[in-house]
Amino acid sequence: MLDIQHLKKQFGKLTAVEDVSLQVAAGETVVLMGPSGCGKSTTIRTVNRLIEADGGSILFCGKNILEMNDEELRLVRKKIGFVFQQFNLIGRLTAEENVMLGLVMGGLPRELAQEKAREALRKVGMESHATHKSGEMSGGQQQRVGIARALAFEPELMLWDEPTASLDPILVREVLVVMEELAKYRSSAMLVVTHEIPFALHVADRIVLMEQGKIREEGIPSEVFVRPVSDIGKKYKELIE
Ligand code: ADP
Ligand code: MG
Repeated sequence: MLDIQHLKKQFGKLTAVEDVSLQVAAGETVVLMGPSGCGKSTTIRTVNRLIEADGGSILFCGKNILEMNDEELRLVRKKIGFVFQQFNLIGRLTAEENVMLGLVMGGLPRELAQEKAREALRKVGMESHATHKSGEMSGGQQQRVGIARALAFEPELMLWDEPTASLDPILVREVLVVMEELAKYRSSAMLVVTHEIPFALHVADRIVLMEQGKIREEGIPSEVFVRPVSDIGKKYKELIE
Protein backbone atom coordinates (compact mmCIF):
# COMPACT_ATOMS: atom_id res chain seq x y z
CA MET A 1 0.00 0.00 0.00
CA LEU A 2 2.76 2.41 0.97
CA ASP A 3 6.20 2.00 -0.51
CA ILE A 4 8.78 4.64 0.40
CA GLN A 5 12.01 4.30 -1.56
CA HIS A 6 15.30 6.12 -0.97
CA LEU A 7 13.62 9.11 0.66
CA LYS A 8 15.84 12.10 1.28
CA LYS A 9 15.29 15.44 2.99
CA GLN A 10 17.76 18.19 3.80
CA PHE A 11 17.14 21.30 5.87
CA GLY A 12 19.98 23.51 4.69
CA LYS A 13 23.14 21.58 5.52
CA LEU A 14 21.37 19.21 7.88
CA THR A 15 20.36 15.84 6.44
CA ALA A 16 17.15 15.02 8.32
CA VAL A 17 16.32 11.90 6.29
CA GLU A 18 18.93 9.93 4.38
CA ASP A 19 17.99 7.13 2.01
CA VAL A 20 14.98 5.86 3.95
CA SER A 21 13.07 2.95 2.41
CA LEU A 22 10.03 1.69 4.22
CA GLN A 23 6.93 -0.29 3.30
CA VAL A 24 3.52 -0.69 4.90
CA ALA A 25 1.15 -3.36 3.59
CA ALA A 26 -2.66 -3.08 3.63
CA GLY A 27 -3.93 -3.64 7.16
CA GLU A 28 -0.42 -3.73 8.59
CA THR A 29 0.71 -1.72 11.63
CA VAL A 30 4.29 -0.50 11.43
CA VAL A 31 5.78 1.34 14.40
CA LEU A 32 8.60 3.79 13.68
CA MET A 33 10.85 4.51 16.65
CA GLY A 34 14.07 6.33 17.34
CA PRO A 35 15.58 9.14 19.38
CA SER A 36 14.26 12.69 19.12
CA GLY A 37 15.57 14.46 16.05
CA CYS A 38 16.33 11.27 14.09
CA GLY A 39 13.92 12.16 11.29
CA LYS A 40 10.69 10.33 12.16
CA SER A 41 8.34 13.31 11.77
CA THR A 42 10.10 14.42 8.61
CA THR A 43 9.66 10.95 7.12
CA ILE A 44 5.99 10.66 8.02
CA ARG A 45 5.18 14.23 6.93
CA THR A 46 6.66 13.76 3.48
CA VAL A 47 4.05 11.04 2.86
CA ASN A 48 1.17 13.49 2.49
CA ARG A 49 3.54 16.25 1.47
CA LEU A 50 3.26 18.44 4.52
CA ILE A 51 7.01 18.47 3.87
CA GLU A 52 8.39 18.28 0.33
CA ALA A 53 11.06 15.60 -0.07
CA ASP A 54 14.33 16.25 -1.89
CA GLY A 55 14.63 12.81 -3.40
CA GLY A 56 13.25 9.30 -3.57
CA SER A 57 9.73 8.13 -4.24
CA ILE A 58 6.61 7.45 -2.20
CA LEU A 59 4.28 5.03 -3.90
CA PHE A 60 0.76 4.91 -2.51
CA CYS A 61 -1.29 2.15 -4.12
CA GLY A 62 1.28 2.18 -6.91
CA LYS A 63 1.30 5.93 -7.64
CA ASN A 64 4.14 8.24 -6.73
CA ILE A 65 2.80 10.88 -4.32
CA LEU A 66 5.85 13.05 -4.94
CA GLU A 67 4.90 13.44 -8.60
CA MET A 68 1.20 14.16 -8.11
CA ASN A 69 -0.38 17.43 -9.18
CA ASP A 70 -2.60 19.43 -6.79
CA GLU A 71 -5.80 17.68 -7.82
CA GLU A 72 -4.32 14.17 -7.46
CA LEU A 73 -2.81 15.15 -4.14
CA ARG A 74 -6.13 16.47 -2.86
CA LEU A 75 -7.76 13.11 -3.66
CA VAL A 76 -4.98 11.01 -2.17
CA ARG A 77 -4.97 13.06 1.04
CA LYS A 78 -8.58 12.00 1.61
CA LYS A 79 -7.35 8.42 1.77
CA ILE A 80 -4.60 9.16 4.27
CA GLY A 81 -5.54 10.07 7.84
CA PHE A 82 -3.08 11.99 10.00
CA VAL A 83 -3.09 12.19 13.79
CA PHE A 84 -0.64 14.64 15.35
CA GLN A 85 0.67 15.19 18.84
CA GLN A 86 -1.40 18.39 18.96
CA PHE A 87 -5.11 17.73 18.54
CA ASN A 88 -5.93 21.05 16.78
CA LEU A 89 -9.64 20.83 17.56
CA ILE A 90 -11.82 23.92 17.62
CA GLY A 91 -12.61 24.23 21.32
CA ARG A 92 -15.92 26.03 21.02
CA LEU A 93 -17.31 23.38 18.65
CA THR A 94 -18.69 20.05 19.82
CA ALA A 95 -16.89 16.77 19.22
CA GLU A 96 -19.32 15.94 16.44
CA GLU A 97 -18.95 19.34 14.77
CA ASN A 98 -15.16 19.01 14.82
CA VAL A 99 -15.39 15.63 13.12
CA MET A 100 -17.99 16.83 10.61
CA LEU A 101 -16.07 19.94 9.58
CA GLY A 102 -13.67 18.34 7.12
CA LEU A 103 -16.37 16.09 5.68
CA VAL A 104 -18.72 19.02 5.00
CA MET A 105 -15.90 21.10 3.54
CA GLY A 106 -15.13 18.12 1.29
CA GLY A 107 -18.65 18.42 -0.10
CA LEU A 108 -20.55 15.80 1.91
CA PRO A 109 -24.18 16.71 2.74
CA ARG A 110 -24.61 17.66 6.43
CA GLU A 111 -26.80 14.71 7.34
CA LEU A 112 -24.42 12.15 5.88
CA ALA A 113 -21.47 13.92 7.50
CA GLN A 114 -23.23 13.73 10.85
CA GLU A 115 -23.87 10.03 10.40
CA LYS A 116 -20.22 9.40 9.57
CA ALA A 117 -19.09 11.56 12.49
CA ARG A 118 -21.26 9.58 14.93
CA GLU A 119 -19.91 6.32 13.55
CA ALA A 120 -16.31 7.53 13.91
CA LEU A 121 -16.93 8.80 17.45
CA ARG A 122 -18.43 5.42 18.33
CA LYS A 123 -15.22 3.71 17.18
CA VAL A 124 -13.16 5.76 19.64
CA GLY A 125 -15.68 5.39 22.48
CA MET A 126 -16.74 9.05 22.36
CA GLU A 127 -20.28 8.72 21.01
CA SER A 128 -21.77 9.78 24.35
CA HIS A 129 -19.72 12.99 24.15
CA ALA A 130 -20.77 13.88 20.59
CA THR A 131 -22.53 17.09 21.64
CA HIS A 132 -19.98 18.14 24.27
CA LYS A 133 -17.71 21.08 23.53
CA SER A 134 -14.25 19.75 22.73
CA GLY A 135 -12.63 22.62 24.67
CA GLU A 136 -14.15 21.23 27.85
CA MET A 137 -12.75 17.73 27.42
CA SER A 138 -9.65 16.07 28.86
CA GLY A 139 -6.58 15.75 26.62
CA GLY A 140 -7.23 12.04 26.14
CA GLN A 141 -10.80 12.67 25.08
CA GLN A 142 -9.70 15.45 22.73
CA GLN A 143 -7.19 13.17 21.10
CA ARG A 144 -9.83 10.47 20.66
CA VAL A 145 -11.98 13.09 18.88
CA GLY A 146 -8.88 13.91 16.78
CA ILE A 147 -8.63 10.23 15.88
CA ALA A 148 -12.35 10.12 15.02
CA ARG A 149 -11.84 13.13 12.74
CA ALA A 150 -9.26 11.13 10.78
CA LEU A 151 -11.32 7.91 10.84
CA ALA A 152 -14.42 9.66 9.49
CA PHE A 153 -12.77 9.73 6.06
CA GLU A 154 -12.37 5.94 6.21
CA PRO A 155 -8.69 6.27 5.35
CA GLU A 156 -6.75 3.46 3.74
CA LEU A 157 -3.64 4.57 5.59
CA MET A 158 -3.35 6.22 9.01
CA LEU A 159 -0.24 8.19 9.92
CA TRP A 160 0.35 8.83 13.61
CA ASP A 161 3.00 11.24 14.84
CA GLU A 162 3.45 10.77 18.59
CA PRO A 163 -0.30 10.90 19.27
CA THR A 164 0.16 10.42 23.03
CA ALA A 165 3.21 12.65 23.54
CA SER A 166 1.33 15.65 24.91
CA LEU A 167 -0.89 13.66 27.28
CA ASP A 168 -0.23 13.01 30.93
CA PRO A 169 0.53 9.36 31.71
CA ILE A 170 -2.92 8.45 32.96
CA LEU A 171 -4.57 9.70 29.77
CA VAL A 172 -2.03 8.04 27.48
CA ARG A 173 -3.60 4.66 28.09
CA GLU A 174 -7.07 5.49 26.83
CA VAL A 175 -5.62 6.68 23.54
CA LEU A 176 -3.34 3.64 23.17
CA VAL A 177 -6.32 1.36 23.80
CA VAL A 178 -8.21 3.01 20.94
CA MET A 179 -5.16 2.69 18.66
CA GLU A 180 -4.76 -0.97 19.56
CA GLU A 181 -8.41 -1.62 18.70
CA LEU A 182 -7.96 0.07 15.32
CA ALA A 183 -4.83 -1.94 14.61
CA LYS A 184 -6.65 -5.16 15.48
CA TYR A 185 -9.51 -4.22 13.16
CA ARG A 186 -7.09 -3.86 10.21
CA SER A 187 -9.42 -1.63 8.24
CA SER A 188 -6.53 0.71 7.46
CA ALA A 189 -2.77 0.35 7.33
CA MET A 190 -1.03 2.24 10.14
CA LEU A 191 2.36 3.90 10.33
CA VAL A 192 2.85 4.97 13.93
CA VAL A 193 5.60 7.12 15.38
CA THR A 194 5.65 6.60 19.14
CA HIS A 195 8.00 6.18 22.09
CA GLU A 196 5.55 3.79 23.79
CA ILE A 197 7.59 0.58 23.91
CA PRO A 198 4.85 -1.68 25.36
CA PHE A 199 2.51 -0.54 22.59
CA ALA A 200 5.15 -1.30 19.97
CA LEU A 201 5.80 -4.71 21.50
CA HIS A 202 2.16 -5.75 21.61
CA VAL A 203 0.58 -4.02 18.64
CA ALA A 204 3.20 -3.62 15.90
CA ASP A 205 3.36 -6.14 13.10
CA ARG A 206 6.79 -4.68 12.40
CA ILE A 207 9.07 -2.22 14.13
CA VAL A 208 11.41 0.12 12.27
CA LEU A 209 14.24 1.77 14.21
CA MET A 210 15.73 5.02 12.96
CA GLU A 211 18.79 6.93 14.07
CA GLN A 212 20.34 10.04 12.55
CA GLY A 213 18.13 10.04 9.50
CA LYS A 214 18.66 6.39 8.63
CA ILE A 215 16.87 3.12 9.23
CA ARG A 216 19.15 0.96 11.34
CA GLU A 217 17.00 -2.08 11.91
CA GLU A 218 13.56 -3.50 11.24
CA GLY A 219 11.67 -6.65 12.02
CA ILE A 220 8.93 -8.20 14.10
CA PRO A 221 8.90 -6.99 17.74
CA SER A 222 10.28 -10.22 19.17
CA GLU A 223 13.30 -10.05 16.86
CA VAL A 224 14.07 -6.35 17.13
CA PHE A 225 13.71 -6.13 20.89
CA VAL A 226 15.04 -9.58 21.77
CA ARG A 227 17.89 -10.12 19.28
CA PRO A 228 18.77 -6.66 18.00
CA VAL A 229 21.68 -6.30 15.60
CA SER A 230 22.03 -2.50 15.56
CA ASP A 231 23.36 -0.25 18.33
CA ILE A 232 20.04 1.53 18.55
CA GLY A 233 18.20 -1.81 18.77
CA LYS A 234 20.49 -2.86 21.63
CA LYS A 235 19.71 0.38 23.47
CA TYR A 236 15.99 -0.35 23.20
CA LYS A 237 16.54 -3.90 24.42
CA GLU A 238 18.29 -2.53 27.51
CA LEU A 239 15.31 -0.28 28.17
CA ILE A 240 12.96 -3.25 28.20
CA GLU A 241 15.08 -5.40 30.50
P1 ADP B 1 11.94 13.40 15.05
O1 ADP B 1 10.52 13.49 14.61
O2 ADP B 1 12.53 12.04 14.88
O3 ADP B 1 12.16 13.93 16.42
P2 ADP B 1 12.35 15.39 12.98
O4 ADP B 1 11.99 14.69 11.73
O5 ADP B 1 11.37 16.33 13.54
O6 ADP B 1 12.81 14.32 14.08
O7 ADP B 1 13.70 16.21 12.74
C1 ADP B 1 14.84 15.65 12.13
C2 ADP B 1 15.92 16.70 12.08
O8 ADP B 1 15.54 17.74 11.20
C3 ADP B 1 16.20 17.37 13.43
O9 ADP B 1 17.57 17.64 13.53
C4 ADP B 1 15.40 18.65 13.33
O10 ADP B 1 15.96 19.66 14.14
C5 ADP B 1 15.50 18.97 11.86
N1 ADP B 1 14.34 19.71 11.35
C6 ADP B 1 13.05 19.27 11.34
N2 ADP B 1 12.24 20.16 10.76
C7 ADP B 1 13.02 21.21 10.39
C8 ADP B 1 12.76 22.45 9.73
N3 ADP B 1 11.54 22.80 9.32
N4 ADP B 1 13.82 23.27 9.52
C9 ADP B 1 15.06 22.92 9.90
N5 ADP B 1 15.37 21.78 10.52
C10 ADP B 1 14.37 20.91 10.76
MG1 MG C 1 8.85 14.11 15.71
